[in-house]
Amino acid sequence: MPHELPKSYEPGAIEMRWAEYWIKEKLFSVPTPPLGETRPVFTLLLPPPNVTGRLHMGHMLNQTQMDIIVRWHRMRGFITLWLPGTDHAGIATQMMVEKQLEKEGKKRREMGREKFVERVWEWKREYGGAILDQMKRLGASVDWDREYFTMDENLSHAVREVFVRLYEEGLIYRGNYIVNWCPWHGTAISDLEVKHEDVAGKLWEVRYPVIGTSEFITVATTRPETILGDTAIAVNAKDERYTHLHGKKVLVPLMNREIPIIIDELAQPEFGTGAVKITPAHDPNDFEAGKRHNLPQINVMDEHAHMNQNAGAYAGLDRFAARKRVLHDLREQGFLVAEKDYALAIGKCERCGTIIEPRLSEQWFIKIKPLADRAREAVESGEITIVPENYSTIYLNWMNNIHDWCVSRQLWWGHRIPAWTCGSCKEVIVAREAPAKCTKCGGAKLEQVPDVLDTWFSSGLLPFTTLGWPEKTRDQAVFYPTTLLITAYEILFFWVARMIMFGCHFMQGHEQDAAIKKASGWGDKRNDSVPFRQVYIHALVRDAERQKMSKTKGNVVDPLDVIERFGTDATRFTLAAMAAPGTDIAFNESRTEGYRAFANKIWNAARFMFMNVDRLSFVWGQPPSAVRPGQSPGSPDHEMGVSGFTVATLEDRWILSRFNRVAANVNDALATYRFHEAANSIYDFFWGEFCDWYLELIKPRLNFEEGADKSAAKIACANLVVLFDASLRLLHPVMPFITEEIWQAMHEGKPALKSIALAPYPQADEAQFDLAAETEMAILQDLIVNIRNLRAELKVEPKVKVPIEVFAHEPEIRRLIEQNRNSVLSDRTANVEKITFVEHSLAKLPGARSTARFDVHVVYERKIDVASECERLKKELERLEKGIGSGLRQLGNEQFLAKAPQNVVENLRKQQSELAVLKEKTVSKMKELGCG
Ligand SMILES: [Zn+2]
Ligand SMILES: [Zn+2]
Repeated sequence: MPHELPKSYEPGAIEMRWAEYWIKEKLFSVPTPPLGETRPVFTLLLPPPNVTGRLHMGHMLNQTQMDIIVRWHRMRGFITLWLPGTDHAGIATQMMVEKQLEKEGKKRREMGREKFVERVWEWKREYGGAILDQMKRLGASVDWDREYFTMDENLSHAVREVFVRLYEEGLIYRGNYIVNWCPWHGTAISDLEVKHEDVAGKLWEVRYPVIGTSEFITVATTRPETILGDTAIAVNAKDERYTHLHGKKVLVPLMNREIPIIIDELAQPEFGTGAVKITPAHDPNDFEAGKRHNLPQINVMDEHAHMNQNAGAYAGLDRFAARKRVLHDLREQGFLVAEKDYALAIGKCERCGTIIEPRLSEQWFIKIKPLADRAREAVESGEITIVPENYSTIYLNWMNNIHDWCVSRQLWWGHRIPAWTCGSCKEVIVAREAPAKCTKCGGAKLEQVPDVLDTWFSSGLLPFTTLGWPEKTRDQAVFYPTTLLITAYEILFFWVARMIMFGCHFMQGHEQDAAIKKASGWGDKRNDSVPFRQVYIHALVRDAERQKMSKTKGNVVDPLDVIERFGTDATRFTLAAMAAPGTDIAFNESRTEGYRAFANKIWNAARFMFMNVDRLSFVWGQPPSAVRPGQSPGSPDHEMGVSGFTVATLEDRWILSRFNRVAANVNDALATYRFHEAANSIYDFFWGEFCDWYLELIKPRLNFEEGADKSAAKIACANLVVLFDASLRLLHPVMPFITEEIWQAMHEGKPALKSIALAPYPQADEAQFDLAAETEMAILQDLIVNIRNLRAELKVEPKVKVPIEVFAHEPEIRRLIEQNRNSVLSDRTANVEKITFVEHSLAKLPGARSTARFDVHVVYERKIDVASECERLKKELERLEKGIGSGLRQLGNEQFLAKAPQNVVENLRKQQSELAVLKEKTVSKMKELGCG
């Protein structure tokens, strides 16, 4: 053991050092396990952050929980693989680089596709790793040797392979579809990239003349410019107001086009007039209705939301200018019936804020039903479990109502769709490599489709593509299915569901290595095509007032800032301790400050331990190895309880029992993701039991004076060391840095293992549970606390030893107190001079307490020697008056006042008033005592 830890605990320096050490030593790199491996395996895929990303509190929580679970498994002897990487994040990255170009006065379209993409790669090489560097600072124990980027050549190859296979299976098709369209970006964007806002808008009622009658049908709309693309009016079959109009036609105002009145559920009699206009090319619900009734789709806008030639007189106008003109004309021609205020929910592009236009365009789709059916089964059958369980219901509902997935994006950055259009015959050819000539007409003028794939397409494949797919690899046999996924609710559908669909489809027939599967606890019958066995959905981190963090509210807490001030360990501990299942975390910095103090407490306890080991070695010449903690580099999973601990006293029996119970709790809690319970139970044990009680109770035994009991001191010292070692290991997954620092110091910098992260995780040994010791200790603690409280009430000076009287209600209680007399007498606990047992109740006495098991009386009377106290007070008074006098002189000195800095003068004034208060107190005390 080295015997020096710096006096004060400074997380910054310690954490940086160990984070670098772990990476340099490749402690978390996992080579492919050979055939015949029989250890259990734990695999976890890091939800890849966007390459443009910066660490936020959500990541911090996610990373903390993953790292806790990963470190816990590793310490329990699992072959533990945590796979890191980043996502190319199509639209986000493209936009970031476009903005950069803008500053240089350049434009993407002028630059051309090839140059632009090269520029994005340059940006990625220079700035793309920022979030991973931040992860390194957090100590995330990932395998950096396996780091991937979703556009790496091998992953891109797998993406092409998947696309072609799906196409060949008839699961990919091209078609018109309503998509969320950002007119600024000129691309389809996913639902996830649309943010919804409530705004004050208008609802216009417009009437359509019914052909062959003098009647009108009135409908309401918030987007009157879409009238130009109407292809039907729908009414409900049950709506008797319209029964006589079934089968009739109406005239579209301003366009003079005839369109049918159709019967469809989309029209709700209780809503508005009960009739609705159908514009299949500009509304997703109308699009579906249009398909049901075979209606034409008339697109009246171009990709930048300008009206096109289908909009007749309005062609060329921007959509909002067109709206004004349309309204003006409707009013003039008598079609506008009413204009009402209306609360409108509009969707905006998350990245540029442009209002989304639902738009009909030609896109590539995945026929989702066959994939979804299997993915639904995987969760229904329990092949995949989702925690908390209520998310399974949400997932299943979604899978039951799933639509085909539009996978094409009109972007330049991403995986380009492996399809080529023939310049001569327009045939579209999907192929793994660029074809030399057209498969239909033999023409050689082929051009690759410009679209790229949705970012979620490639990330949906990661569980197997990162393990070498489409090759059949040993890595797949070992690490697939991955064990667990920890992620946020918001990507349950976009990412999690897609991984399940792709995994079940492409890994069909896959079998995990039988020996490993068995060792990992997955029965023989378990299906191995699923991408993971379990999904844990974590909560949100909100601000201290439970508000969602947002840039506009200005309440965003930057995790790096919190880490800077309190350390990574304390920040991690906060997130773990507050992560009760099913509730969001109201992040409160004062908690982090508290856990910083917890780290400090552990630090000081370690210094106390080192000091005693030193004394043992220097005073008595005992080699430090006499109290070295045990090490078991072999099979970490088999260490039960605390080995090398010698039970000599009640507090030894008690702490050993408590440690084992806490170990049982913590292991249980981690197995079910009750992070708060794990963290809090370690905290209560380490601070409340180990530091506050055990360390104090053993102090009398840690006596190195001449004539002291050497063997008792040695046992106490050794117990302290092995228990500290075990407690550090118990805490390590939550606070990896401080535990590593102290553990390395305890092992003299020459541990058999390179890191505490590879040491065994404490498992409860039920044989070391000791209920009797816990009960007895509770009684002693109760006695000591009562004496302390009485001492405080009686204002006994801390250093003064006092005699006590005890009335034990039962003989066993008396025996217990007698046997542990030293624990009560100690100046570290109750500082008692002498214990006298009496046979009568003490309850009524002043300075006494009565409990169910004992009465205790602190025998104390304040005695004061009046003469010497008066002498002391007189001297005190003289000192105070002198001080006041000199202060007055300075404050009366004009020269001093003119020269002295203001804060000096202020301090002096403050000091004067303080001295005056003290003087007054002293005078009144003297009066009380009757001093002359
Ligand atoms: Zn946009
Ligand atoms: Zn052709």
